[in-house]
Amino acid sequence: MTMIKKLRKQNTLRWFFLGIGIAAVLALTTLNIYSLYALRESTIEASTDNKKNQVDEFAEQTRSRFLSQFYKLVRLDTEQLQQAWELSGSFPERYSAVLTDALQDSLYTDIYFIPENHDVCGESSQTVYKYNPESKTFTVSDDTPQITCDGFSIAVSRTQVALNEYRFSNRVTFDAHRSLTLTFINTKDRSVIGHINLVVDQDYLVNGYFKNELNKQFGPADKTGMVVWLRDWMQDEVLAVSDESFSYDRDQYDIDIRQRFPNMLDNWQLRASFIESPTLAASNASLRRNLIVLGFAVIALFGALVFMFINAQRERELAQRQAGFLANITHELKTPLAVMQAAGENIADGRVTDGKRLKSYGDHIYNESVRLRKMIEKLLDVAKVDAGLNVVEQAPLQPEDVLRQLYESTKGYIQQKGFDYEMSAQNNLPMIMADPNHLETILNNLIENAVKYSHDEKYIRLGVTSSGGVVQFTVSDKGDGIPKKLHKLIFEKFYRAENTLTAKTKGHGLGLSIVKNLVELNGGSIEVESEQGGGATFIVSIPVLVDKPLFETDQQQTVTEPKTSEEYV
Ligand code: ADP
Repeated sequence: MTMIKKLRKQNTLRWFFLGIGIAAVLALTTLNIYSLYALRESTIEASTDNKKNQVDEFAEQTRSRFLSQFYKLVRLDTEQLQQAWELSGSFPERYSAVLTDALQDSLYTDIYFIPENHDVCGESSQTVYKYNPESKTFTVSDDTPQITCDGFSIAVSRTQVALNEYRFSNRVTFDAHRSLTLTFINTKDRSVIGHINLVVDQDYLVNGYFKNELNKQFGPADKTGMVVWLRDWMQDEVLAVSDESFSYDRDQYDIDIRQRFPNMLDNWQLRASFIESPTLAASNASLRRNLIVLGFAVIALFGALVFMFINAQRERELAQRQAGFLANITHELKTPLAVMQAAGENIADGRVTDGKRLKSYGDHIYNESVRLRKMIEKLLDVAKVDAGLNVVEQAPLQPEDVLRQLYESTKGYIQQKGFDYEMSAQNNLPMIMADPNHLETILNNLIENAVKYSHDEKYIRLGVTSSGGVVQFTVSDKGDGIPKKLHKLIFEKFYRAENTLTAKTKGHGLGLSIVKNLVELNGGSIEVESEQGGGATFIVSIPVLVDKPLFETDQQQTVTEPKTSEEYV
């Protein structure tokens, strides 16, 4: 009882730990998948941030490209400039050096100047001066281009607004992309000294600077993972692209970055689209690899868990059955002994002298000793199987002879028990190679079971046929039958079907496990066809030795005489 209680407790614990194990595997897997995705996300995010920074830096760099020449002007004294212009109509040397340098740059074509803050394109006819880089002097311009005129006009009005609001020394104004205007202001009295307009070479700007730089910094797209277009959104026109093989197509590419140029190139914008980059592809591949490895690991872990659990469960069942068996067998061994002891005592005392009673006592002692011997033999058989001590002594056998001899030797006993007992054999059966003792034990056990488990209809039939390279021995009855779900279990050691009919029949669940072991030792297999209440047929298949039956003389030489089964007397 305590043993069974202990087993039950262990079983609850086992289920508990299996639950915890599965939960742990699931939690670990979820956590792993989550962190893998998080890692991938952060890789993508880092790469996206990096790309955004690159585009941002490019816009800044473009601004510097325009203005770097003029940073020196910021530190110069604007009062000096005002005096020089008022006195001689020219710029001080340090100013004109900067302007001459600027004209060396292919970005600028010409430089124009207007003193004070008057609109040149308006009503007033303000004089416009053009800079001559060789003589470093200004001369009156008689063909001021419209671009310059527009540039001055914008600068004049913007400066007016700015002067009313802030204090600062100079200001840069762009007329879209066509010209750059610098305004010189006397910070002391906040008067405008004048505006300088630098005409930008359009062709160089787009085809020289942007095309080259975009290509250098962002192309080719399959390596950098993005394509960048320079677009004039007013004109709805793409001016330059980092990789010529990518035409601007909103349906095909999502625009991931829109970047304007700070305080310049008003209508122009950089637009970037991310395409599958090597980093992203590598990150995806690594994610896939990791998921596959994780999947295999989880399956293996689950498999191991379930395998261990099933194994433990099996062992538990076996232990339970073994415990039941021990309790049972002790009782079974004691009973025949007690009967024999009592009968023996009565005879020895001389209390029983009557012939009839003496015979009855003798029968009792004989029957009980047979039961005892069978039980002990079975226990020894199990011990042999467990210890792997079963020796196979195979010999060529004629299947029909084996069966017939067994039939003849058991017929008397079985018919005496009220059974309708039959035997049939197919003609020309091939020889088999098997241990005759084993074969006898196998068939005896099956016949014994057929007797034991037949209650209402008493019928047993032995049969032997051959097909597909095996000889099949069958033992059929019309007894209690075995439910389908138990067909596998009944061959396990100590297993007994727990239905009411079987419960009435004595047994220890050893017979079929011994039978199965012996069949397999002889290279064969055993199966059962049965349904609850519908009788049972056990089929033992043994491989054929020679396909054709040997001649009569050969047969007689090779057939081994099976032992007579006195157990059934
Ligand atoms: P035992 O007969 O000692 O219980 P076995 O290993 O011989 O042990 O059989 C295992 C179980 O298979 C039996 O308990 C019984 O339920 C079932 N069984 C075996 N043979 C038959 C049969 N011919 N008809 C019905 N049930 C059978």
